[in-house]
Amino acid sequence: VFISFEGGDGSGKTTQLKLLADAMRGLGHEVVTTREPGGSEGAEEIRKLILEGDADRWSPMTEALLMYASRRDHLERTIKPALERGAIVITDRFADSTMAFQGIAGELGEEQILILHKLVVDKNDPDLTLIFDLPIEEGLQRSSERGGEQRFESKGKGFQENARQAFLKIAKTCPDRCAVIDARGDVADVAIRVMETVKQRLPS
Ligand code: ATP
Ligand code: C5P
Ligand code: MG
Repeated sequence: VFISFEGGDGSGKTTQLKLLADAMRGLGHEVVTTREPGGSEGAEEIRKLILEGDADRWSPMTEALLMYASRRDHLERTIKPALERGAIVITDRFADSTMAFQGIAGELGEEQILILHKLVVDKNDPDLTLIFDLPIEEGLQRSSERGGEQRFESKGKGFQENARQAFLKIAKTCPDRCAVIDARGDVADVAIRVMETVKQRLPS
C-alpha cells in the first residue's frame, strides 16, 4: 500500500505522518516512511540542488525536471522495492506538490507537469493521498513557531493561497485517490481524522 501526504507548508504533514506510521507499526505492519524531494540517496542529493542556494538558481522547467529526476530515483530505489516486499510506504509529499507548486500555482501550468508525470510516474501513483488543508495564515504561524522561513514565503499570500486551492483542485479531480483532511485544531484531533480516513479508504 502506497500513501502520500500532501498540502501546504506547515499544515502538519510530517507530524501526522510519524503518528500514522507508529499506529500502523503497532498493528504489526512493516511501514517505510520517506519524503520528497528526496527519499533515496540520489534523490536526497538532488533535494540539496533544488532547495539550497538561490531561489532563482533554476528555471521553472529545470526545477520541475530535477523534481521528477529525484522522483524517478525515489520510486526505483525506495518505493517500488518496499511495495514489492509487502511494506506500507508513506511519503511526506509526492507528485501533487509539484503539480500544485510548480504546475498550477507556479509558472509551468498543468499540461507540462502532466507530460512529465506520464513519462516518469505512469501507473505508480499512490493508492491514497491525504491532502492536509489549512488556512495559509495558520500554516505560516506554525512554521514560524517551528523556526525558519517557508520556501515560498517571499512569493506572498497570493501564491500560497493559489497553492492551497491547487491542492483542493487535485483532490476534486482525483476523488478515488485523494481525501482532504481538515488540518485545523490540535495534533490529537487531526490524528483522529487521519486514522478514520485511512480506515475508511483502505479497509483491510
Ligand atoms: P512543511 O511543509 O514545512 O514540512 P509540515 O506540513 O510537515 O510542514 P509540520 O512540520 O508537521 O508541518 O508542522 C509544522 C509545525 O507546526 C511544527 O512545529 C509542528 O510541531 C506544529 N504542528 C503540527 N501540527 C500541529 C497542530 N495540529 N497544531 C499546532 N501545531 C502543530
Ligand atoms: O516538505 P518539506 O518541508 O520537506 O519540503 C521542503 C521545501 O520544499 C518546502 O518549502 C516545500 O514547499 C518545497 N517544495 C517545493 N516543491 C515541491 C515540493 C516541496 O518547492 N514540489
Ligand atoms: Mg514537513
